[in-house]
Amino acid sequence: MEKNEKIYIDLRRHINSQAIGFPATKTGSELRILKHIFSPKEAEKGIGREITLGESLSILDENQKQGLVLQPSNTEQAEFICSCCGCCCGMLSMHKGLPKPVDFWASNYFAVVETDVCNGCGNCEKRCQVGAARVSEQKKKTSVDLNRCIGCGLCIPTCPQKAMSLKKKPNEVRPPQTRDDLYDIIMSHKKGSFGKLKIKGKIVIDAIRTGQTHLLR
Ligand code: SF4
Ligand code: SF4
Repeated sequence: MEKNEKIYIDLRRHINSQAIGFPATKTGSELRILKHIFSPKEAEKGIGREITLGESLSILDENQKQGLVLQPSNTEQAEFICSCCGCCCGMLSMHKGLPKPVDFWASNYFAVVETDVCNGCGNCEKRCQVGAARVSEQKKKTSVDLNRCIGCGLCIPTCPQKAMSLKKKPNEVRPPQTRDDLYDIIMSHKKGSFGKLKIKGKIVIDAIRTGQTHLLR
């Protein structure tokens, strides 16, 4: 076995135990992919473990420096924070293809530029993962397209002129408390209250029929 092979095999097993899975192949191509993406040190770290608040904050800090959009779960009790780029994240890449994508997001902030101090360096344009910040060729100043800006704040820390800031929208949108509350809202919008009752009834009947009432708790 090659040096460090076990680290990658353990990582593959770990990923494979998650919802989407990452099974072994006959050719070992999945291990080659992991080796291409992760150094042995990163692969060792990649296996889930409890981390301290300090470690979480330093990971988020690192992600911010790498230009990734920090997206928490859409609930007041945040369950996770995704660190996303505009090329791989399904949500952000879909966002870029829509004419008025902000209509489909719940964001309480948007970016504003102090045009007097903006020097047109283009850092914000490079950092913006959704094509909202653009430097005008003629004016050499940035403007923010409010139909596209999701208020992620990624353009702010690297502006050399401190010309970018976030402003709160007048009507605050508060996300649901928990994931169950979120799914309840989605379901009632999709199915209406009657449809929601029908689905709940079906779940209860199925649980009784299959002897799995413990799942209802
Ligand atoms: S990063 Fe700042 S100075 Fe540079 S173009 Fe954007 S707003 Fe202007
Ligand atoms: S706050 Fe708006 S303009 Fe700035 S990076 Fe995020 S989406 Fe782009």
